[in-house]
This record gives sequence, C-alpha cells and structure tokens, in this order.
Amino acid sequence: MGKINVLDKHVAELIAAGEVVERPASVIKELVENSIDAGAAIVTVEIKAGGVSYMRITDNGCGMAREDVPVAFLRHATSKVHKQDDLEQIGTLGFRGEALASVASVSHVEVLTCEPGAVEGTHYIISGGEEEYCGPAGCAAGTTMMIRDLFYNTPARMKFLKKDVTEANAVAAVMDKLALSHPEVSIRFIREGKEALHTPGDGSLKSAIYTVFGKEFTAGLIPVDYSYQGIRAHGFVSKPAAARPNRSMQHFFINGRYIKSRTAMVALEEAFKGTLMVGKLPACVLHLDIAAGAVDVNVHPAKLEVRFVNEKPIFDCVYYGVKTALQKGDTPNVMHFPQS
Ligand code: ADP
Ligand code: MG
Repeated sequence: MGKINVLDKHVAELIAAGEVVERPASVIKELVENSIDAGAAIVTVEIKAGGVSYMRITDNGCGMAREDVPVAFLRHATSKVHKQDDLEQIGTLGFRGEALASVASVSHVEVLTCEPGAVEGTHYIISGGEEEYCGPAGCAAGTTMMIRDLFYNTPARMKFLKKDVTEANAVAAVMDKLALSHPEVSIRFIREGKEALHTPGDGSLKSAIYTVFGKEFTAGLIPVDYSYQGIRAHGFVSKPAAARPNRSMQHFFINGRYIKSRTAMVALEEAFKGTLMVGKLPACVLHLDIAAGAVDVNVHPAKLEVRFVNEKPIFDCVYYGVKTALQKGDTPNVMHFPQS
C-alpha cells in the first residue's frame, strides 16, 4: 500500500476551518460581514468570556428560507457567487462560502432566522459540523447566530487562544473596523454584559469615527474627498498637529472592506512630507471606492490583503487627495458633533 492517503472528510474540514477561524475575532468578522451583506441596518454583537464560551450576532437583514439554512452551512455554499465571471466583480464582503461551514465545524451553533414577511422562521442547530435540529420558530425578521464553546473539539487550537480579555480586545478592534467601514449600519457591541460600542448608523463617517475614537481624535481631522481615474478617496486625515507616534491610527477601507495596503500607506505619508515633526506619522480613516473589477479580493482567506490590478492610480488618488485636503485645511463650519 502506498504512503499517501486522502484525509477523511472530518479532518479535512477541521484543517479548512483553521484557515478562516483563528479566534473569536475572526468569527465575529465573518458573521457581521454576513449581516452587512444581508442588508442589515442594525447589527448587535454580544460576547462572553472573550467570545470563547458565547457569541451572539443579531441582524435585521434579509434572513434565510428554511431550505437554505442547512445549505448555508455546507462548504463552498454561497448566495453571492454563481459563476466564474462573478469572481471578477465581487460586490459583497463574503463570496467564498466558507465561514458558516468553518465556524460550525469547531463549535456549537444555533440559528434563528426569518425572511421579512414570512409566516414563520427557522430554528437550526449544528454542532461540530453535524446538524442536530431544523424546525420552525417564531422570530423577528433577520438572523441571530449563537456560537458556543469555540474549539471545543479541537483542543490544540484552544491552546492558542489568549486570555479572555485579550480575545475580547481583538473582537473590539474588529468591531471598530466594521463600524468605520459601514457608517450606514448601526453597530452595537455588548462586551461581557456592558455596551462597549453603539454607532448611530446614520451614514455619516464622521459620526462613526466620533463614536469609535472620541471627541479629541475627531476634532483633529481634515476631510478628504477626491476622485481620480475612476477611484474615489474619501474620509478624513489627521491635521499635521494631531499626528501620532505610530501607524496604529491609519485605517484604510476599500469598497467597504478593511484592508492593509502598503501603497495607500506610502501615498498618505508622502503627501504629509514636510508637514510633520520628526517621528510623527499621520492618522487617517480613508475609504477608497473603486470598480470591483480593478481589485482582486480573492488573495487571502481572511481577505485582509487585496491586490490591485494597477497600483499607480491608487497611489495617485490617495496622494493627491490628501495633498489637496491638507492645502485646503479644515472647512470652517464642519465641526458638528453628534450627541454621545
Ligand atoms: P459567504 O458569505 O462567502 O457567502 P458564508 O459561509 O459566510 O459564505 O455564508 C453562506 C451563505 O449563508 C451566504 O451566502 C448567505 O446566503 C447566507 N447567510 C449567512 N449569514 C446570513 C445572514 N446573517 N443573513 C442572511 N443570510 C445569511
Ligand atoms: Mg460570509
């Protein structure tokens, strides 16, 4: 007999899950992205014990029909991509059809979901990848996902988890990014019984920034809105006087997705050249809107890295956008803070 064997389904599933689900924060990212893709206006996230023992995500989005729920938990099952060409034009945050399958294979998941206007909803339970219950439920329109005991069946992974407070901090950082990436969605985060974040969801990026980072940071911002070669850069950069000692407050988003982009970072810093004291770096919350076909989001399982078909226009748009904003400075009447 040869030495090579094909892994059984269960083991293959656990390996695949490891690529998507690293810790509670990665589960929250995937599930809130699903809520946003479902058109939710309000998303509430609750965690206990850093999310390891309990996470609940509730949205008022489109919900799922009963027959779709078990399918949603299969690997490579998605309503967002149908054919190869769709991969060139991804307009949603999700598209791999892997998150629910991955989460369900390493935890106990309970779902309540109802389509708006449907007579009744669905209650579904899946544990370690095995369906345990699927039946009717009376529930509000939208979807609630409850995840219990993450990694209960993968002790090796469990060992890599940090202290609850560290895991909760990682979830909080994800929540901040989600709130900044979608100011049109009201994002609420309840951490160990206390409300830690609640954005208004009024569509204003400034309101979202104010809620996430507070009054002082918001007061030190200059608006950016610049279109160049089919790309729009919009958001805020710090006034030179409000620059920071590191890059931790540089936040870039592309088509509503938080990303890391060296090109955008270099362009930002080049635009600030000559305005900053030594050792200081600019802060920003900058959104880039670009044709879906000009960016490949299909590079990294967690989709943190994206590849631009052409980096030069990205650089130019950020560079000129920020330069123009710095020259204009603050417009005199824009400092209007929402009530906190
Ligand atoms: P993907 O997001 O890549 O499609 P997922 O595994 O995250 O893959 O989700 C599978 C499918 O389940 C989605 O395509 C969507 O149709 C459905 N779904 C998941 N979460 C929700 C939700 N909160 N509301 C409505 N539908 C959902
Ligand atoms: Mg998804």
